[in-house]
Amino acid sequence: MNVNDSESLNDVAGLGNQSLFDRAKKLIPGGVNSPVRAFGSVGGTPRFIRSAKGCRILDEDNREYIDFVGSWGPMILGHAHPEILEAIARTAVHGTSFGAPTAAEVEIAELIVDMVPSAEMARLTSSGTEATMSALRLARGITGRSLFIKFEGCYHGHGDSFLVAAGSGAATHGHPSSPGVPEATANLTLVAPFNDLAAVESLMQEHGSDVAAIFVEPIAGNMGCVPPVEGFLEGLRALCDKHGSLLVFDEVMTGFRVSPQCAQGLLGVTPDLTTLGKIVGGGMPMGVVCGPQKYMEHFSPTGAVYQAGTLSGNPLSVAAGIALLKRLHSDSDEIYNTLDQRSAQLHQLWKEALDQHGIPHSWHRVGSMFGLFFTAKTVNNFHDASQGDVELFKKFFHGLLAEGVAIAPSSYEAGFVSLAHTAEDIEFTAEAIGKLKL
Ligand SMILES: *Cc1c(COP(=O)(O)O)cnc(C)c1O
Repeated sequence: MNVNDSESLNDVAGLGNQSLFDRAKKLIPGGVNSPVRAFGSVGGTPRFIRSAKGCRILDEDNREYIDFVGSWGPMILGHAHPEILEAIARTAVHGTSFGAPTAAEVEIAELIVDMVPSAEMARLTSSGTEATMSALRLARGITGRSLFIKFEGCYHGHGDSFLVAAGSGAATHGHPSSPGVPEATANLTLVAPFNDLAAVESLMQEHGSDVAAIFVEPIAGNMGCVPPVEGFLEGLRALCDKHGSLLVFDEVMTGFRVSPQCAQGLLGVTPDLTTLGKIVGGGMPMGVVCGPQKYMEHFSPTGAVYQAGTLSGNPLSVAAGIALLKRLHSDSDEIYNTLDQRSAQLHQLWKEALDQHGIPHSWHRVGSMFGLFFTAKTVNNFHDASQGDVELFKKFFHGLLAEGVAIAPSSYEAGFVSLAHTAEDIEFTAEAIGKLKL
C-alpha cells in the first residue's frame, strides 16, 4: 500500500475521523459540504480523507481503502495522477484566476468539440449544477417555452427546477422534492419514469408544444447504473423532433467515462445540448454546456440568454481538464480497453463472491461504470432500484469498509473503476467480499 506516507496536511488533521466529525458537525451543517458524504443512509462515521494516490485513499485514522468512488467519477486515471498534478502546478505559478479569456480555454474547447460528437461550441461553468441550470435556461430561451421533462431517479444537480418529484396519481406536473423550491417552479417540471417511452409520449401528446426540452442522463448513474432500454433514447430523439423540443443529454457523469465520445458516441444518439462535469475538470471544479453553434450562440454575449461566472474557465480547472482529456483522447483504445477488462473482471469476481453467499443481486455495467443492486429483478427505473435490500447494503458497505474497500455510502450510487485499479486490487476486493458475514 502506498499512500501512507503523507504528513498531516493541516492543524486539525491527526484528530481521527470521529473527533473530526464531531467538530465538523458544530461548524458545517451535518459536518459535510454535500449531503451523501455524511453516511446518512448507511450510518456510522464518515471517513475524513487525508490523501489519495492511484486507486487508494487514506483517512484520518490512518486507514487505507481501495476506492471505487473516485470523487464520484472524475478520477478515471486514478487519484493524484502525476500528469494532472504537474499541469496544475505548472499553471498555478502564473496566477490562479484572471476573470479574462485565456489561451487554455480555447484549447479545452477544441478538445471538447473534437471528442463530443454533437458539440461545435462549449461554454464553461464551475460545476455540473451550473451547467444543467444554464442548459435549461438556454433551451427555454431558444424555444420560448417553459415546461420540460425529466426522469425519476435522474439527478441533474441541485437547481430548483430539477429538485422535483413526480406528481401523485393523474397529476402530470411535478412537486418540490425539497423545501425552498417554489410549487410554481416545480409545476413547470414534468416527471416520467426512466425507460418508459409511452409515458413520455403521452406527456408530449398533451404538452408537447409547451415543452422546451427533455433532460435525460443517457445512462442513468444516480440510481445505481441503469442503461437505457433499446429504443428509449431514439424514441426521445424522435419525440423532440416531432414537437420542436430540445433533447438534452446530461453527461456530467457519463461524459468521457463510458467512451471518449461520451454516451452519445457509444449509443449513437445525438442530443441537441450536452452538459459535462466531473471528468472534464480533471478533479477540479468545472462544468460545460456544449452543442451546435446555432444553439450555443443564443448564450450572451452573442445571444440574449444570460449566463456568466466569475471563476468560469478557471485556469487551474482548465489545465487539469486539458491534461486529462488529452490522455483520454490520444490513448483512448488502450485506456478504455483496459478499463473495460478490469471492470469485467470486477463484475465477474464480485458476482461469484456474492453467489457464494447466496445473495440475490443484479448488475448493470457500462464500461467502467457499474451498478450493483441487492434485488434479483432487472433494474430499469427508479422504482426497480428502490426494491434493493437496504439493510443488506448497509452490512455490505460497512463490511467492505472494514476490509479496506470503499464504495459509495448509498445504494443509489454508481461505482467507478479507474485505470489505477490493477487485477490484483480487484482480486483483493473480491476476496474481501468473500470474507463478509452477510
Ligand atoms: C454530479 C452530477 C451533476 C451535478 O454536478 P455537480 O458538479 O455536483 O454540481 C449533474 N448531473 C449529473 C448526471 C451528475 O452525475
